[in-house]
Amino acid sequence: MVKLPFRPWRKQPPIFVFMLAVTLPAAALVIASGVYLRHIQRGKMIDAEIQRDYRETLAIAEKRITDRAFEIAESAQATFPGVDDSDALDDFLKTHPDIAHAFIWTGKDSMTFRSQPDRMSDPDFRAESRKLATELGGWFDIDSEEHIAKVKSFEAAEGRRVFFMAEPHVMRGDKPVYELFAYFIPRGSSPDHPALAGFAYDEDYLRDKFFPRVLYEVLPGGGQNDPMHPQLAMTVRKEKEQTPLAASVCWDGGIPEVERDFMGVFPGLILGIRPQGTTIADISRHITRLAFMVLGALSLLIGAGMIFAYRNVSSELALAKLKSDFVSNVSHELRTPLALIRLYAETLELGRISSADKHQEYYEIIRKESERLTSLINNILDFSRIEAGKKEYSFRETDVADLVRSTLESYRFEIEQNGFQFEQKIDNNLPPLSVDREAIARSLLNLVSNAVKYSAGRKYLGVHLYRRNENVNLEVVDHGIGIPAKEQLKIFEKFYRVGDPLVHNTKGSGLGLSLVRHIVQAHGGQVAVESAPGHGSKFIIILPVKNPDFQQVSA
Ligand code: ADP
Repeated sequence: MVKLPFRPWRKQPPIFVFMLAVTLPAAALVIASGVYLRHIQRGKMIDAEIQRDYRETLAIAEKRITDRAFEIAESAQATFPGVDDSDALDDFLKTHPDIAHAFIWTGKDSMTFRSQPDRMSDPDFRAESRKLATELGGWFDIDSEEHIAKVKSFEAAEGRRVFFMAEPHVMRGDKPVYELFAYFIPRGSSPDHPALAGFAYDEDYLRDKFFPRVLYEVLPGGGQNDPMHPQLAMTVRKEKEQTPLAASVCWDGGIPEVERDFMGVFPGLILGIRPQGTTIADISRHITRLAFMVLGALSLLIGAGMIFAYRNVSSELALAKLKSDFVSNVSHELRTPLALIRLYAETLELGRISSADKHQEYYEIIRKESERLTSLINNILDFSRIEAGKKEYSFRETDVADLVRSTLESYRFEIEQNGFQFEQKIDNNLPPLSVDREAIARSLLNLVSNAVKYSAGRKYLGVHLYRRNENVNLEVVDHGIGIPAKEQLKIFEKFYRVGDPLVHNTKGSGLGLSLVRHIVQAHGGQVAVESAPGHGSKFIIILPVKNPDFQQVSA
C-alpha cells in the first residue's frame, strides 16, 4: 500500500490555498512597508536626508563662491601696477571701482596706500584709509618676510596668484566692517628688493554686488510648485549677526534651516540655505504622505487583483466541477436506459413471459428507454456540434401549430400516465414560420421533459402556442419546484444545474436549456423564464414571425 504524505493544505479547496498563498505575502509586504514608513517618519530620517542634501549643496556653493572670488581678484591682480609704478595705483582704482583700497609695500617705510578717490569725501572712509595705511605699513615693516613666504607658498601649493585674508573688524566710523584683502607679490619684486602688494574689497561691495550675484549663480533651480523640490534660497551672514549680510533674490525671510561656516576665503561668514515657502519638516511630511498614498493605492490594486483572480479562478473551478458532474450524470443517464433495455430484452429472449399484455408492456419499456437514450445522445451530439461551431439548421416554411401538436402527441400518453394533468392550448390561424423542425421539436421536448422532471408534488403541464404582436410564443408551464430568481439566468449556461437537492436527485446533464437557447437564438428569437420556487415555472420560446435576417444559420 502506498502511504501518502500528510499534507493538510491539500484538503482545502484549491481556491482557498491559492488566495492564501498570494494574499499572505502581499499583505505581509504592505504591512511591512507601512511599518517601515512609520519608522522612517518617527526617526525623522527623511528630514535628516534632506538636511544632508542641503549640506552638500552648501559645500558645492562655498567652493564655487571661493572660485569666483579668486577669479575676480586674479583678473584685477593681472592689471595691477608694478613696483616702479606706484603712481599708477590711482588709475588702477579708477578702473576697478569695486576695490576700496590698494597698496604697494617696497621696503621699510615705503608703503604706497591709495583708496577709491571718489569715496574720499566720506570722512569715515577717509579715516579708515589712513588707519589702514599706517597699520598695514607698520605690519609689513615687521613681518614682511613672513607674509611674502606665506603668499609664495600658497601660490606654489594652490596655483593661485593672490592670497586672501579677511579682516572682519575694520572700523568705519564707530562700526566694524568686513573687508577682504588680496595679497600678492607685485611685478618688479626681487629677492634683493622684496615687495608686497594688495587690494581690499569692502563690505559694501560684498553685500551689494559680490554675494547677490554669486549666490544667484550657485543656487540650484527648483520647481515653481513642486512641493518635493521647492525653490531654494541662500544667505550669507556674519558670525555674530542673525540678519543676513546678503541673500539670494528669492529669499523670503525667516532663518536658514542648514548652515555652513565659510572655511577658506571668507572666515567669519556663514552660508545658509532654506526652501522657499515651506520647511524641511513640511517636505518630509509631504514625501511620507505620498509614500503612504502610493502604498494605499498599491494595496487597493493588489486587492482588486485578488478579487479579479478569485473570480476568475473560482469560475474556472466551477466550470471544471460542472464538467465533471456532467460526465458522471451523462454516464449514469446512459447506463440506466441501457440496463433496462438489456434486462427486458433478455427476459423476452428467455421466452418465459406468456401473457400478451406483459409482452406489450416490455416492448413499450424498451421503446421508451431507447427513445430516452436517443434524445440524450441527440442533445450531446447537438451540444458538441455547437461547441465545435458546426451546428447547422435547415429552415423550412412550417405550420408550427402542427409541429407542436405532433411532437406532443407521441408524449401525451406517457405524460398522462405519469399522473400529469396535461393542458394544451394551440391557437388557430397562426402564420407559417420558417424553422428547423427537428430543432424546434427538440427544444419543446427539452422543456417538456424538464417540466416533468422538476415537478415533485403538483403534476401539471401546460403547453400554449399563440401569437403576440410580431412573435409566436410557445409556453411550457409547470407547477413544480420552481427556480430561485438568482439562478434564472445561469440555468441557460452549459452544464449548469441548480444546486437544490431536489434537482440533484433528478438525473440531468445540464445541457438541455443551453441547447434550447442556442436553437431559439439561431431562429432570431429569445427564450425567457418566469418562475418562483415552490410555485412552478413558465418557459417561453419567442419566435419572430418575420425575421429580416433569417438565413441558414451555421453556429
Ligand atoms: P438538466 O439536464 O439538468 O435538466 P437543463 O439545462 O435542461 O439541464 O436545465 C438546467 C437546470 O435548470 C436544471 O438542472 C434545473 O435545475 C433547472 N430547471 C430547468 N427546467 C426547470 C423546471 N421546469 N423547473 C425547475 N427547474 C428547472
